[in-house]
Amino acid sequence: MNIYDTYEVVIGLEVHTQLLTKTKAYSGDIAAYGGEANTHVSVVTLGHPGSLPVFNKRTLEFAMKMGIACNCSITKVNQFARKNYFYADLPKGYQITQDKTPLCTNGYILIGEFGKEKKIGITRIHMEEDAGKSIHDLDPFYTLIDLNRAGTPLIEIVSEPDLRSADEAYDYITEIRKLVRHLDICDGNMEEGSLRCDANISVRKKDEKDFGVKVEVKNMNSIRNVKRAIEFEIKRQIDAIEKGETIVQETRSFDGINGSTKSMRSKESAHDYRYFPEPDLPPLIVTEKMIDDVKKEMPALPKQLMHKYIEQLHLSVYDAEILTSEKNVSLYFEELITKTKNYKSAANWIIGPVKEWCNTNAKDIFEFPLTTNHLTEIIQLIDTGKINFTIVTQQLFPALLNEPNETAEGLAKKLNLIQQQDSSLIEALAEDALAKYPEKVAEYKNGKKGLMGLFMGEVMKMSGGKADPKIATKILEEKLNGG
Ligand code: ADP
Ligand code: MG
Repeated sequence: MNIYDTYEVVIGLEVHTQLLTKTKAYSGDIAAYGGEANTHVSVVTLGHPGSLPVFNKRTLEFAMKMGIACNCSITKVNQFARKNYFYADLPKGYQITQDKTPLCTNGYILIGEFGKEKKIGITRIHMEEDAGKSIHDLDPFYTLIDLNRAGTPLIEIVSEPDLRSADEAYDYITEIRKLVRHLDICDGNMEEGSLRCDANISVRKKDEKDFGVKVEVKNMNSIRNVKRAIEFEIKRQIDAIEKGETIVQETRSFDGINGSTKSMRSKESAHDYRYFPEPDLPPLIVTEKMIDDVKKEMPALPKQLMHKYIEQLHLSVYDAEILTSEKNVSLYFEELITKTKNYKSAANWIIGPVKEWCNTNAKDIFEFPLTTNHLTEIIQLIDTGKINFTIVTQQLFPALLNEPNETAEGLAKKLNLIQQQDSSLIEALAEDALAKYPEKVAEYKNGKKGLMGLFMGEVMKMSGGKADPKIATKILEEKLNGG
């Protein structure tokens, strides 16, 4: 047996997400990403003596949305706390956070294959503020400080140590990112740091009762790198234990270039944050009504949509997964199915040609030039036999993309793509087709029914692809079997 298989991996993740509020968590400063350095800073952000924080209610609303989406209990009496540490990008010398009374507790999310999901516990979600940014690579001598980010609102989502592999951790963050994007509370961009993840990892022998000593890994700037960091760390820890070493509790930093982790600080040098209640902010009281109001505003969540698509619209799990993986895709689909009842076809158009357009052009579905009315019309034109499916995908659809102000049927007529449904015309074509292959007709009559394809092909060719195949088949059959 592989030695690595005799160990169990235990992982808990701490995810910070930057909330998309207009202003900062405790001041009226703009909270937008970027901007000219140090322009979104007032005396509150700078922590000048005598300045006082004012809590931004949007932070609460956004944090509650995530808590509700993660099936958490919402805390009614919330204290803010000061977390003290000294660092150049933290002008106040402390962060306002929540310590003993996190806003959301005791929840879970589901990860993994639909119908066979695994519950991952959410220990807590609390509100806090971000620090500024230290920039080490712009000046050869100095570290530069940009305080635009200082004071922007964050939520920290702490999971139970329920994850058992790097793949599960990957699924978990993917699900968290999907949720925050769906709720419109964070853009989920790990490269820009608006979603950040610290991974706590330990290993233990499979028959062991207690968890092993955990190591915390930081600085992964993509979901893939979280997975790589965990994979590296699992191997490093098992190798160390197998060599007779003991794992020490420490914080390690991930290096994306070689995929390894290296020690940043040990437990002994861990910060003592000296938390105490924030004296400048009153307790924040959350009422049942406030919770209900937030619930009313929440969109259907990806998992709820999955259920709807599979159970009510009878789509496949695969289709439902794609349709719910991005919020705007599900919004587009939701709009489309208010207009057509051919759900499978609606799903196919989005998963196929529409997504292909988005991928090729690196654009969001909201920038797709055709409206749901166009697609509804297209689906109808095909379903009623007015246009052949192949002609739509090869000719009408691309033409419509260039002329999105046209209606689908209008453009089809202009381009002369409407299927020939006039039986007398098709009948003439059928006669020509059969006259062209007298021997084949004889063979067909002797039982070689597969030759129907040849005759159909001929009729379609002569009609320029526009003969209604249903009508053509019927006429050919009548002629071949009747005479
Ligand atoms: P700390 O006191 O070091 O902050 P916490 O108990 O608050 O530790 O847990 C922080 C994170 O580490 C949580 O996500 C939790 O699930 C995870 N965690 C705790 N113990 C372990 C362990 N032994 N192995 C892996 N992850 C763990
Ligand atoms: Mg902790």
